[in-house]
Amino acid sequence: MSSRASAPIGPSLWQSTASARPTFSTHRSEDRFDVAIVGGGYTGLSSARYLARKGLSPIVLEANHVGWGASGRNGGVVSGKFRVSFRDISSRYGLETARRMHRLGIEATEHIGVLVDEYKITAALYQPSGSLRCAHNAASFASLKQECEWLNSALGDQACSILSAEHLQEEIGSGNFSGGMLNRHGGIIHPFNFVLGWADGLLQEGVTICEQTPVLSLKVESDGVCLETDNGTIRAKQVVLASNSYSNISPATRPIEKAVIPFRSAMIATKPLEGTAAEHLLRFGRSYTETRRMMRWFRKAQGRLLYGGRGAFGKEDTEAAFSALHKAMVRQFPELSNIEVTHRWSGLVAMTLDSLPHLGRYNDRVIYAAGYNGSGVALSSLMGKYVAELATGQRPDLGLVTSSRLRPVPFQLVREPAIRTVAGWYQFLDAIGL
Ligand SMILES: Cc1cc2nc3c(=O)[nH]c(=O)nc-3n(C[C@H](O)[C@H](O)[C@H](O)COP(=O)(O)OP(=O)(O)OC[C@H]3O[C@@H](n4cnc5c(N)ncnc54)[C@H](O)[C@@H]3O)c2cc1C
Repeated sequence: MSSRASAPIGPSLWQSTASARPTFSTHRSEDRFDVAIVGGGYTGLSSARYLARKGLSPIVLEANHVGWGASGRNGGVVSGKFRVSFRDISSRYGLETARRMHRLGIEATEHIGVLVDEYKITAALYQPSGSLRCAHNAASFASLKQECEWLNSALGDQACSILSAEHLQEEIGSGNFSGGMLNRHGGIIHPFNFVLGWADGLLQEGVTICEQTPVLSLKVESDGVCLETDNGTIRAKQVVLASNSYSNISPATRPIEKAVIPFRSAMIATKPLEGTAAEHLLRFGRSYTETRRMMRWFRKAQGRLLYGGRGAFGKEDTEAAFSALHKAMVRQFPELSNIEVTHRWSGLVAMTLDSLPHLGRYNDRVIYAAGYNGSGVALSSLMGKYVAELATGQRPDLGLVTSSRLRPVPFQLVREPAIRTVAGWYQFLDAIGL
């Protein structure tokens, strides 16, 4: 079969290799909770975990199934970085802010290991193998070297080091890179089995998690919040909006919908590699990202090569977009030209105006955590710890994540065509090597 004779678009590799699903909860009309959480992804589960640890009663309400959103379909790259570099944060907002956010990133990556161990999620296949950023040209390599030096000296982060082009060729099996920066924090995970195993652990601890329960509306009242679902009304003292890039399901999460720009991100997976390709490509099982504007990334999972990217993917999936992704993969790894692609899927990441995630309150009753800008596996999984602090009257300091607000995107009507135009322009600049 030709590699391009296409696999269907969806289900993802993660769905095809998912663990058994736990039995979820049901709720009764007029049930009361301390905190209702809208969204059953990493942010929602993390909030439930830490709220329960503070002795509060949380309920997670998920419109589809747990992990249906980005948490069940992402690339499984566990990284503590933000879309804005720590060096840029330091030069604009000061070294202390950069230090705080860097510590947060490390805490977030280490926290994944804690969850996997605590809930015994062996099916998450977590490998703390680190990540390698690959420079697509000499200028990008020079900038990676400066960044690494700065991380070592200004932040004392000795987990970062520079690798030569020859080293990359040997580790990755592609001669297309000028060099790279290795970061030993983080690694790779099976994202859907991780969220399923985590939900199972929470259910066993007595947390209420309801699937197929869209929150249809949300009303703030003097003594709490009132959430309407098809199964009745739920009352809680506070609510956490954990719907991120999938906030257009109902008006209940409209403030988040207005503040994030959903951007389609897609992935393909080959069948298990054999022979020399299996031996030589991505030998150390890390995650790999490129330095291009429209970033591509790749990793292995269960012997397959997974290749992902963002680009001028429109509102819906298209054959043309997946074909462009396949071409990029073959350009990188010519030996994959005849390898069958068995899975193709996509999802939405939530970009923000300042490229940063945000945690905060809209008012006394409504808390939000959103806008991970495509780098949220580790951070959204930790965010609940700070959601719980906020819910119990503390004021967590997470640098820019908590000090600046999640602002609505202006010109709502033109934002989608505008995104596609900008993405197309970035792709053009990448293609001509600028
Ligand atoms: C294709 C892709 C690849 C990615 N790769 C990576 C990666 O490799 N590494 C990385 O760090 N990050 C990656 N990300 C980003 C990462 O997956 C997200 O940042 C993270 O999963 C966000 O989790 P969340 O819980 O906030 O949101 P989600 O997991 O999207 O959960 C939101 C949930 O809210 C539910 N919801 C919405 N409205 C309602 C309502 N009214 N009532 C009830 N429920 C509702 C939705 O059904 C959804 O399940 C990727 C994202 C995508 C799409």
